[in-house]
Amino acid sequence: MAGNELLAATPEAREACGVSGIYAPGEDVARLTYFALFALQHRGQESAGISVSDGREIQTFREMGLVSQVFDEEVLASLTGDLAIGHTRYSTTGSASLANAQPMVAEWSGGKIALAHNGNLVNAVSLRKELESQGETFAASSDSEVMLRMVAREAQRLGGVEAAVAECMPRWTGAYSVTILTEGAVIAARDPYGVRPLCLGRLNGEAIVFASESCALNVIGAELVREVEPGELIIADKDGLRARVVLSAPRQALCVFEYIYLARPDSKIGGQLVHEVRKRLGAQLAEDHPVEADVVIPVPDTGWPAAIGFAERSGLPFGEGLIKNRYIARTFIQPDQRLRDLGVRIKLNPLREAIAGRRVVMVDDSIVRGTTKKGIIGLIRDAGAKEVHVRITAPPYSWPCYYGIDTSNRSELIAARLESEEEIRKEIGADSLGYQSVEGMLKALGVPRRKLCLACFTGQYPIAIPRDVKLSKLDLEEQEWREGEDRAEQKAGVPSPTETQE
Ligand code: SF4
Repeated sequence: MAGNELLAATPEAREACGVSGIYAPGEDVARLTYFALFALQHRGQESAGISVSDGREIQTFREMGLVSQVFDEEVLASLTGDLAIGHTRYSTTGSASLANAQPMVAEWSGGKIALAHNGNLVNAVSLRKELESQGETFAASSDSEVMLRMVAREAQRLGGVEAAVAECMPRWTGAYSVTILTEGAVIAARDPYGVRPLCLGRLNGEAIVFASESCALNVIGAELVREVEPGELIIADKDGLRARVVLSAPRQALCVFEYIYLARPDSKIGGQLVHEVRKRLGAQLAEDHPVEADVVIPVPDTGWPAAIGFAERSGLPFGEGLIKNRYIARTFIQPDQRLRDLGVRIKLNPLREAIAGRRVVMVDDSIVRGTTKKGIIGLIRDAGAKEVHVRITAPPYSWPCYYGIDTSNRSELIAARLESEEEIRKEIGADSLGYQSVEGMLKALGVPRRKLCLACFTGQYPIAIPRDVKLSKLDLEEQEWREGEDRAEQKAGVPSPTETQE
């Protein structure tokens, strides 16, 4: 197992980013943003940053590391103002470097603009080329900088940032939940498919707060008012709140993985508490994949609510069988070969007393490459389990994500690489394997299919992926097949399946 796999979160798909924004004259907005980012730490652990405006100028501080490592009292005290935005980053495009840390800042003749982005533009490469051909230069390599430079140019042309964002939104294809700071306003915008979450709250009945997830509102004492609608642009400034829907799409496409894995269980998405949704996913699994066993154990942390739901529905006892070390950050020193051989033990340690001599049901949220799962099953067997039955709350993960989740290329995805679930079961070393079906997942979620992105299970991408981007994540054999298929379809005049609206 490679070092990175060893340290990867379970599952092997990784987080995207967290964003926040606050307009709160008279409050310590830097400190409030710090606490909001702390609540969004699970969405990105590579870098963190805050931009603050006092009405005259914008100050920004961003660094590599966890929120608690990046900011201290001195830094927060230096960031004074009435409005702010914040960001926690996990790189899905662009490298993990300080240049790509956010918020990113650009200037136009009317002042500065800071931008924090969660998501991924699928047309970033062509937009960047277009800007470069017009003489624009870039300091970083991410799609977020492309968005920032476009807003700055349009602000210059149109004479204001609000109009510039509205002008840019139709040209951004893909997933974006952004917060933007000017000297006098906080602006929030969400793509018309609503791929990544973004919510709006009130603090003390007046101040306006935006955050990727409602858990960030909770920690600073703000009330969740509603979600920012897909395609909506909201401005918070001295005149209050102005909202308008700038763009509409034929359907919505919230990433289903927000419910399954990405969001914190204490966040609400679409009016539903994520913890409750995950419990229902576990209960549905117990209905569809019952098994004779002695104990149900979660893979921490995201497997917890689903394992509770599985245990409740099946009548089997719930037990804590794996203890997670939560303090492994990306700065963790790579283990030497001897420790590497201990595999996932650095991150997860089995509770032998809960496992030995028992038939164990292990509940987790997804299998991406399969290497981590294999390691965990090995741990449980080493701790004396008689049988290990694996139950997964997501359907088989067979297609790569282009909308802001860092997953492997298709050839590395175990569900794409192997022919059948039986082969996957053998490869990970389980006694039985039960995946949630897409239908079972939708039933447990209680969300209509037309409102969700399910592309990593179905291969049907709700937002068309440009050909060069699409091929970059498919393996060679797959590329040849896809190219042949695309050619045949173009001849027949039908759209590619990866561009079909579900
Ligand atoms: S492809 Fe999968 S991970 Fe990516 S946005 Fe769609 S559902 Fe989420």
